[in-house]
Amino acid sequence: MRALFFNENGIDNLKYGELPEPSLTEGEVLIRVVKAGVTQLDYMTVSSMKVSPLPHVPGSEFAGIVEEVKGKASVNPGDKVAVYTRTFDGTCSFCREGKEMLCTSGKRIGIDENGGYAEYVKVPSNLVVKADLHWDLMASLSISALAPYHALKEARVGKGATVVVFGASGSTGIFATQLAEIMGATVVAVTDHDFKISRHTVSYSQAEDYVRALTDGEMADVVVNPLGAKYWDLGVRLLRKSGRMVFFGTLTGSKVTLDLSSAYLSHVSFIGTFRGSFQEFKELAELCRKCKPYTWREFSLEEGKDALLALKSPERKGRIMLKVT
Ligand SMILES: [Zn+2]
Repeated sequence: MRALFFNENGIDNLKYGELPEPSLTEGEVLIRVVKAGVTQLDYMTVSSMKVSPLPHVPGSEFAGIVEEVKGKASVNPGDKVAVYTRTFDGTCSFCREGKEMLCTSGKRIGIDENGGYAEYVKVPSNLVVKADLHWDLMASLSISALAPYHALKEARVGKGATVVVFGASGSTGIFATQLAEIMGATVVAVTDHDFKISRHTVSYSQAEDYVRALTDGEMADVVVNPLGAKYWDLGVRLLRKSGRMVFFGTLTGSKVTLDLSSAYLSHVSFIGTFRGSFQEFKELAELCRKCKPYTWREFSLEEGKDALLALKSPERKGRIMLKVT
């Protein structure tokens, strides 16, 4: 099969070529990949993360058509499926709490197992969900949409809330903005790229004045920060009393300082989140009927390296996708 793979970390080491097709064991499904998302996680996977097996096929979010099923499964060959890209046993204490993303025996597909940057990928059959959305949305559900959806739920975003989204033109920001609006919030989308996703789209330097004016000085209920340290202090300034900052990425750094006095006196919360639950993943297959993929550029599998490099482009306006089939 055609695939992107590497034996040693480094974007330049990502090769396009032929690999043997995966063979199924009991309880697995073979998926013919149609589309795969290109995210910062994929970039880090190729450039610096410890992976297995070698040669390794990256690709942490993807969707496709079921080609073959071995054993019992809720899907059949020909079904259009999205894939929850972290395995789980369903029996550990976290799984029993409905937090499959924290499963003690879970593996990350695309990192600890081969991922979706190939014509075919095999996954445990309990990870696939039948859905019928635009292929770019199908391929975005497992990380780009799920991470912010879970974060918004943990931050108790509801009708009438004011939510600020940092990195609004990035993969998770695009979905954070749309999902918060679907959940009834007023969303201030913050990005320095030329990318208008919400009625209230502003740059980082404008954000504080804008949110102050929009909320008559009260500031925001929730700040979604997928970017990490660089915008931490701004995020703190944007929170109203009793506000919540939710964070799930450290692209711009992972160390921050925090004035505990003003934090507790303002009754603010800082909530770290990681991916999302399988139940939330299934909810997205419905909720995202109202989403747009905001795809900026699509690359062929052969152009995988260019697709990863395009993540860093200052011209970038939206998502980057790989068309596999
Ligand atoms: Zn578990």
